[in-house]
Order: sequence, then structure tokens, then C-alpha cells
Amino acid sequence: MITVENLTKRYGGYTAVDDVSFTVRPGAVTGFLGPNGAGKSTCMRIVCGLTPATSGRATVLDRPYAALPNPGRHVGVLLDASAQHAGRTGREVLTLGAVTMGLARTRVEELLDLVGLTDAEAGRRIGNYSLGMRQRLGIAHALLGDPEVLILDEPANGLDPAGIRWMRTLLRGYADQGGTVLLSSHLLHEIEVVADELLVIGRGKIVARGPKNELMQATGTTVRSTDDPAFERVLADAGLQSVTDGDGLRVSADPAEIGALAARHGVVLTLLAPAGSAGLEDMFLRLTAADAREEVPA
Ligand code: ADP
Repeated sequence: MITVENLTKRYGGYTAVDDVSFTVRPGAVTGFLGPNGAGKSTCMRIVCGLTPATSGRATVLDRPYAALPNPGRHVGVLLDASAQHAGRTGREVLTLGAVTMGLARTRVEELLDLVGLTDAEAGRRIGNYSLGMRQRLGIAHALLGDPEVLILDEPANGLDPAGIRWMRTLLRGYADQGGTVLLSSHLLHEIEVVADELLVIGRGKIVARGPKNELMQATGTTVRSTDDPAFERVLADAGLQSVTDGDGLRVSADPAEIGALAARHGVVLTLLAPAGSAGLEDMFLRLTAADAREEVPA
């Protein structure tokens, strides 16, 4: 369990994290979503005791991170995959971690195997690693102490599609066994498959939160008919907003309401489905567009 209460971080006159409160529960993957500069890393760094908060409180397993005995045995952290010493080999980094945490050396080989770093790769200096290899090493380092909580900042950066799938499977299994996962990303599609809960942050404030399925249901319906322009007028007359979505319409109402309206007006529907992730992505962009601090290139 991670608990954050009224957390605020100011850099000079600039508020990077603004009165943020949330909890991250065990047995689930919580996706921490927000555009670049929204305040995700700052929150995570405060939770891990690396950055002091201006005000507010953060605890992991009911204690401030700094008060955890042998923290690596309880909390696995990957904040910046490039932060490791470039002159050390991957195996050296994991061995140092294992020694610090009082773990058997065999754990290093287990983890290298788990994250798919070969013997030869483990013997190379990190300065020569690709970003994807660094992320794999970072995940291995986070998992080394078999912690109950994982805090991962943009771990998918640099992973190829197979690597992203591998990581999702790993995190799913970890959460299903009761682990607590806080996973950040600035890309919805990277975490929507694996996340059970979503926390959306924009301009330092939490702008949406809740179970992913609920947030997705709240995002409307995709509908197609044999005459969309005519159906759009029917929707408008009924006071329902619609936008063109691919070769259909997305409507802010639930499927039953739209189906009933179509039936009353004799409209033939060829598709009627919850908007799901398309709607969630719209919501994410809408919620954060005004809040983004950096433009995302088109
Ligand atoms: P995210 O992880 O969502 O991309 P960050 O938490 O890294 O966002 O940054 C939030 C904001 O705080 C950004 O505008 C960033 O420039 C600013 N910021 C982060 N760290 C510092 C720092 N050490 N000094 C000044 N500003 C900072």
C-alpha cells in the first residue's frame, strides 16, 4: 500500500505537485498517467524519499520510505534507468544490490534470467547498454529483494513491443500475487492494457482517478449506422453530443439509450459498443490538454 496525503512540492515559486492525495492498493496495477511535466516523477521521488516534500505526507507500507528497514526488501524502485554507474556491468550492479540487501548471489542469476539479459549482456558495461537493456536491468534491480511494492517510472521507455508485452505479463503476475504496483507513463495505451486502477495527473493535480473499467464506461459509446449524418441529427435533436470517430460516431451516452433512440427513429445500427479506450484517450487528452506543460509532437 502506498498512501499520499496532501502532497505539495514547490521549486521556488513554481508548484510542481499541488495538494495531491491518493492510495495505491495491493493486488492491483495502478497506472499513473499524465503528460510530460505533469508531476509524476516528482510524486514518485517524494514517495521514495529522494525529494523532500514542501508539505504533505507519503508512506509506503504505513511508514515513510526512509523509516523502512532494508527498504529494497519491501519496495522495488525504478525511477531512472540511466542512473546506474555506466562503468559497471549489469551483473555487478545486481550483485552490489544483492550484497546490500543481504541476499544470496544466486538471486542475481535468477533475475538476469527473468528479465532476459543473457550471460554476455550481463558482463557488458552499462555504458554500452541500449535503453531497453537498461530498463530490463532496472526492473531486475527493483525485483531483486522480492519486494511487496513496486514503483516504476516510465519503465516502458526504450522497450520494444515484445519487451512491453513481457513487462505487462510480469506486472500482471506480480499484482495477482498480491503485490502493489505504481506504474507511470505519459502514454495511455502503454498502461491501459495492464492497469486495474488509473490516476490521471495534469499540472501537478489529480484530474481523474478510479478503476479503469469505470473510467472507460464513463467515456461513451461508439455507434455506426447505415446513415450516420441522419443519425447525427437524431442524436442532436435528443440533446446528445456526438463526434466522428473513425468511420462511426462517438456519443456521450450509454449504448442502451442510443439503441432505444435508433429504434424509435427506425435507424439501422451496424455497430453499438462502449467507446472503451478511444473514449478514455479522448478523456485523457481533454483532461490534460489545458494542463500539459510541454507540447507532445504530432
Ligand atoms: P513528469 O514526471 O510528469 O514528466 P516531473 O515530476 O518530472 O513531471 O516534473 C514536474 C515539473 O516540475 C516540471 O515542470 C519540471 O520541470 C519541474 N521540476 C522537476 N524537478 C525539478 C527541479 N529539481 N527543479 C525545478 N523544477 C523541477
